[in-house]
Amino acid sequence: MSTNTELKQRRLAAAPRGVGVMCEFHAAQADNALITDVEGNQYIDFAAGIAVLNTGHRHPRIVAAVQEQLTHFTHTAYQIVPYESAISLAERINALSPIDGPAKTAFFTTGVEAVENAVKIARFATGRSGVIAFQGAFHGRTLMGLTLTGKVLPYKAGFGAMVPDVYHVPFPAKDVTVEDSLAAIHMLFKTDVAPQRVAAIILEPVQGEGGFNPVPTALFEGLRKICDEHGILLIADEVQTGFARTGKLFAMEHHTVKADLITMAKSLGGGMPISGVVGRAAVMDAPNPGGLGGTYAANPLAVAAAHAVLDVIEGEKLCARAVELGDRLQTRLKAIQQKDAGISDVRGLGSMVAVEFHNATTGAPDAARVNAIVQAALAKGLLLLTCGLYGNVIRFLHPLTIEDAQFDKALDLIEAAIAG
Ligand code: PMP
Repeated sequence: MSTNTELKQRRLAAAPRGVGVMCEFHAAQADNALITDVEGNQYIDFAAGIAVLNTGHRHPRIVAAVQEQLTHFTHTAYQIVPYESAISLAERINALSPIDGPAKTAFFTTGVEAVENAVKIARFATGRSGVIAFQGAFHGRTLMGLTLTGKVLPYKAGFGAMVPDVYHVPFPAKDVTVEDSLAAIHMLFKTDVAPQRVAAIILEPVQGEGGFNPVPTALFEGLRKICDEHGILLIADEVQTGFARTGKLFAMEHHTVKADLITMAKSLGGGMPISGVVGRAAVMDAPNPGGLGGTYAANPLAVAAAHAVLDVIEGEKLCARAVELGDRLQTRLKAIQQKDAGISDVRGLGSMVAVEFHNATTGAPDAARVNAIVQAALAKGLLLLTCGLYGNVIRFLHPLTIEDAQFDKALDLIEAAIAG
């Protein structure tokens, strides 16, 4: 097999730089929370394929489910010849999701496709076009997803005009309050768009790429009030927060307020590409037959994996495990914070935990320190990801199935990497 250096040279020659790549090493094998590269180096994986592997790499039950499906059929196109497994997966998600009243689910392939379709459904159901999103949000890289995303570099810059009728308001983090966010929406209704033209308000229950900032319950309450007053639909983008990561199957279960539509992807498939939109049945049924779908939507292998993921989350009590691991991580980070004036915040919901860095003297966001810590961790065999509008946040996305000894080792590596 080639070395990492050889593979990097071939990659740079064969693939465009726009698909940015973080690591200098190349995967050869992955098992639960461990990745082994082509040279035999091992890394504890706290990236989890960007929040895809809440159930770990190659969970035996998920592998077995996909292998079993391989012996029957791999693709018929659900829209041409449907199958029971996709129907029963929709039934399971309808029953499990925090949607008021009867729910229906449609499946797609990627997270951004779920976002695109949620917006399409909301537009059809309301007969309106406007969408309100939040600054700092991430909703994907296709043109509507990109338009909804609230971060210019590296996502929007250079890609031309965005989709019309999309508006951004400040997200309540740092010095922005919930009242500021709600006032910005009311101001938008005065200065930019009549509420009667707005189809939906979309937000992540915990802003992911934006810095792992949980949405305060008061914001959901305020948004629900605005939505109910003006016939606007509330979309919760749970692509990153979903499937036990925050200690609940869906992060919206932390709130009494209900969304009309919820997008999901990533850890639903445990490594197989599948996404979905669940929502109030009447809303989901608005678009005409043929208006929704995709050739690979509800791919049978990914559907089989998703059933196994739901079984594993329930069987191994991964929601409780997410809370336990998240608590251990936050406790350790807060102890480190006592000795480190550069750590400005430790926060999280369940196992969606982050640590933020500011320069202790100037108070400026410290992306340089964060990058140095991530590189130091990598050199010690731990894969970490960053996030935040200023790139000064480290986020932790360990598989919830990680073994205790490996998790403890990772905590030591985090402490050593922060110490520098
Ligand atoms: N929404 C959210 C909240 C996400 O975190 C992401 C991916 N990071 C997306 C949408 C897009 O998902 P995908 O990359 O699968 O298209």
